[in-house]
Amino acid sequence: MINTQTIVREPFNAQSLRAQFPILSRTVHGSVPLVYLDNAATSQKPLAVINAIAEYYKHSNANVHRGGHAVGAEATALYEDARSVVAGFIGAQQNEIVFTKGTTEGINLVASSWATMMGSSLRGRSIVITEMEHHANIVPWQMVCERTGASLRVIRVNEDGTLDLEHAKTLIDETVSFVSIVHVSNTLGVTNDVRVLCSMARDAGAFSLVDGAQSIVHQPINVKDIGCDFFVFSGHKLYAPTGIGVLYGRADVLEKMPPYQGGGAMITSVTFEHTSYNDAPIRFEAGTPNMEGAIGLAAAIRWFSTLDRSLVCEHEHALSLRMISDLKSIDGMRLLGPGVEHAGIASFVIEGVHAQDLGILLDEQGVAIRTGHHCTMPLMRRFGVTSTARASIAAYTTDQDLDAFSTALLRTVRMLR
Ligand SMILES: *Cc1c(COP(=O)(O)O)cnc(C)c1O
Repeated sequence: MINTQTIVREPFNAQSLRAQFPILSRTVHGSVPLVYLDNAATSQKPLAVINAIAEYYKHSNANVHRGGHAVGAEATALYEDARSVVAGFIGAQQNEIVFTKGTTEGINLVASSWATMMGSSLRGRSIVITEMEHHANIVPWQMVCERTGASLRVIRVNEDGTLDLEHAKTLIDETVSFVSIVHVSNTLGVTNDVRVLCSMARDAGAFSLVDGAQSIVHQPINVKDIGCDFFVFSGHKLYAPTGIGVLYGRADVLEKMPPYQGGGAMITSVTFEHTSYNDAPIRFEAGTPNMEGAIGLAAAIRWFSTLDRSLVCEHEHALSLRMISDLKSIDGMRLLGPGVEHAGIASFVIEGVHAQDLGILLDEQGVAIRTGHHCTMPLMRRFGVTSTARASIAAYTTDQDLDAFSTALLRTVRMLR
């Protein structure tokens, strides 16, 4: 078994952390050192995760939940152990954790299954989201609305980047059946008060979902404390592999929801006349699941838990403040969400400089940032832009990274003007 690492706490040191991420010491375009500031799109993976996946394939690979032989039992134990590691990480019970492909599949699963459960009662009802949602938390709800005759309501974003809570209060009334809200915006980096919003949903008798794709890596999460019915995130933004994600669903709600997909494992018996479904969470995991992904995710969480989370948060907060202040010192800079505390994510436009050009020229200097709409087109429209440049940090980001970013940015802006 490969799941019995003891947890050792050690002081946080971003520089020494980097040694655990082989990719961070590579170069690009020949011999230019890589400065990776695209962590909000995906984070890099430590050796602990890469090795756990290799170990799984070397020692324990077999299909899970099919019983029969020793290796199969071992693989099942590892997979179910991963579920309990995830549950412990977010303050949930093991039977409340569904493995998915990622945030996107988690939201689609909830939207589709919940809408089926609610059936025709959704006609004339409303679903509330915000103007800062990722497309993954917009499109599935539009599809539910098309299917059921419910309508979408959108909470406005203020000019400073905060959510308009007064507007939220007027929108979340007794006609609302679901409230689905991003915790930390992948574009603005603002943290929404999801506890308050979920309690507003509860008071209105509505269900609630929190999109935790960004928050999961930047702050400790306890789903019971947030008070949401559902919480979703992806592994790949949390130092874990791609293709694995988590849907937390409150046990009593999950238990009532119908399956999302049909197939193997999610049943207890099948005849051509009638099929009985398995209990949650297996009911929502049709087919062979992503075993290496779940095991890699557990390894990532175990690895992350060896770090002192409060020191990581302090480190990221300090870097975030510095990144924002560096950016603000540039002439003609417009930061989206100028009035908020940024959770390590900064989106900006610079007068007279096209974001795309900026991205290309920074890349030539080894600095990897993201340019585009960040899957938040309605938010781009809200701020009157079509694209922005976005820099985002991780636990392994250092002041040297930000020095390089700052120098390259200033050089590029001078060149383009
Ligand atoms: C990345 C992200 C998503 C989508 O995650 P996938 O891993 O692509 O499914 C959704 N919401 C937010 C806030 C994100 O940052």
